[in-house]
Amino acid sequence: MTVSDEMTCEEFTEMAPAYALAVLDETERTACTRHLAQSGPHRGCEEAVGEARQVTGCLSAAVPARLPSPGLWRAIEARIADDSTGATSPEDVLFSVETR
Ligand SMILES: [Zn+2]
Repeated sequence: MTVSDEMTCEEFTEMAPAYALAVLDETERTACTRHLAQSGPHRGCEEAVGEARQVTGCLSAAVPARLPSPGLWRAIEARIADDSTGATSPEDVLFSVETR
């Protein structure tokens, strides 16, 4: 029995929000599913997923449209056009626009 590739409850609860959002890659998702399938004792693992699912359920209800507004894209394009250094990646621009 190898312990090294088994996820701990602490690791699992940290990943629970990403697991509930289904943004984990295949390996991580499988590890999480395997961890949940283990017969305990767990330290708040199912509760963490339950809470995360509730939160993500609220989020998707509050934000029905997943596409950014046209205004956001115009702002991004303006930022890119303004950027004379060429060192800024689109992700950086998006981040700075969203956090303003
Ligand atoms: Zn656990």
